[in-house]
Amino acid sequence: MEKKAELCRGKAKSVYFTDDDDYLIIEFRNDTSAFDGEKIEQLDRKGMVNNKFTAFIMDKLEDAGVKTHHVKLLSDEEALVRKLDMLPIECVVRNIAAGSLCKRLGVEEGVDLNPPTFEFFLKNDALHDPMINEYHIRSFGWATDEDIKEMKKLTFQVNDVLKKMFADAGMLLVDYKLEFGRFKGELLLGDEFSPDGCRLWDVETREKLDKDRFRQGLGGVVEAYEEVGKRLGISFD
Ligand code: ADP
Ligand code: UDP
Repeated sequence: MEKKAELCRGKAKSVYFTDDDDYLIIEFRNDTSAFDGEKIEQLDRKGMVNNKFTAFIMDKLEDAGVKTHHVKLLSDEEALVRKLDMLPIECVVRNIAAGSLCKRLGVEEGVDLNPPTFEFFLKNDALHDPMINEYHIRSFGWATDEDIKEMKKLTFQVNDVLKKMFADAGMLLVDYKLEFGRFKGELLLGDEFSPDGCRLWDVETREKLDKDRFRQGLGGVVEAYEEVGKRLGISFD
């Protein structure tokens, strides 16, 4: 599949058209950003690690019956994906309190959330991705009732699969963000699943193994991502 013009350049990935209208090439860059792009750094190997990490997770989710945009890896930093009509919505499930939930509700980091919580955010950097609810989504036509139901179902299904997978590898899946889009009338999981968009803690020590290392200046960011990958059996060679 031939790489054509750039469709969009996000904060961490670049997306390219191909010679087939149904497919895109996603390039994972080393750029790492936090706080709405206020903090940006280049982290060596991160593009390659997140590309291979995402491909591995998408394959696991497909095996469990969750349809995704992923087709195949093309190179260390590139993957071939189905071209989705993305919904401007981020779906977040939380198993343990952390990040914006703690700030918003004054909850201590590390509190177990039982049952897990679900939140929608509007994907809009200029507005700092505000939290929204189903009524906003319907009133503004960002998605249909059916999409809302499906996004919630799929996001929780992902939790069932991945919580267990990470637990078996000695990690707690604290929270994560998913994005969905339409492909030929069907809602598919798009974007990525990597330690850039989820929180993972070591089950024994509760050491952070995700992008909070970058947000909080803890260092060893990509090393932690690779450690997570190694525990799952992903090869980054
Ligand atoms: P951002 O700066 O928006 O957080 P990224 O750097 O992650 O974004 O860039 C990836 C962009 O590509 C995002 O806007 C995402 O919604 C979009 N995208 C991800 N997967 C697909 C897909 N399969 N089809 C179309 N667009 C996609
Ligand atoms: N997240 C993301 N992109 C965003 C916002 C959040 O990938 O634009 C992920 C984040 O890494 C975490 C989860 O979604 O795993 C919940 O994030 P939170 O609302 O706590 O926001 P944060 O404080 O991390 O910005």
